[in-house]
Amino acid sequence: MYKVKFYKGNYAARQRKANNDNAVAYIEHHFNSSSSSTASYAVVVTGSNASRTSKNWGRWYAKAVARFFGTQVSGDDGILVGGWNGRGDGNLKHTNMPAILLEPLFASNPQHAEIIRSTSGQDALARILTESIQRFFPAGGLIAFSVGHKYKKSNPDDRGAALAGGGTEADYAEKVLKKAAAMLQEIDEIGTERTIRVMQGDQLLFETPVDEDTLVVWDPDRGLLSIPES
Ligand SMILES: [Zn+2]
Repeated sequence: MYKVKFYKGNYAARQRKANNDNAVAYIEHHFNSSSSSTASYAVVVTGSNASRTSKNWGRWYAKAVARFFGTQVSGDDGILVGGWNGRGDGNLKHTNMPAILLEPLFASNPQHAEIIRSTSGQDALARILTESIQRFFPAGGLIAFSVGHKYKKSNPDDRGAALAGGGTEADYAEKVLKKAAAMLQEIDEIGTERTIRVMQGDQLLFETPVDEDTLVVWDPDRGLLSIPES
């Protein structure tokens, strides 16, 4: 099972506390910002000392977000190792466990900002994050969450970038993390089977377990998802 704890204080202190608690994974949530209002991509920052697990996990998350929202990934196949010219590295490099910093959408892009303010957008982001944690940390454990910008002793009023049309990066990052925390804590089976799901919006239409080694094929021309019999 998963336990979730939110870490507050300055960034290095958050990471040290998560280390002391033996957290299995560390996530800091942000939204991106650019002087261009059309910037539109997903990227994940990893520490300069990131493990292979952190890199694979970050790429998995960035690609899943880009596919879902119809955007692209940036950086090195979805990740920026060591941050933007070093920015972001200090938010992660003190962790002993796999750690990623999320930049799924742009606060500065009006269309992205609408998604970020919407319940359905927050739910989708929380679900992708939750699935990424299940995928990379199937044995469960303590998951450490950090809301970017907010709750720093050094700058208590920082809320990060302004969302186009109203709101702040940090307040919405916190909403997404709270939803993900609720989803993770509802999971009662660890190491569950691989599952195929069909969703319409937030509605689950179909769900079936499949063998871990089976090849599931989606044919977009036929509109057919083929699941071999197990
Ligand atoms: Zn930020």
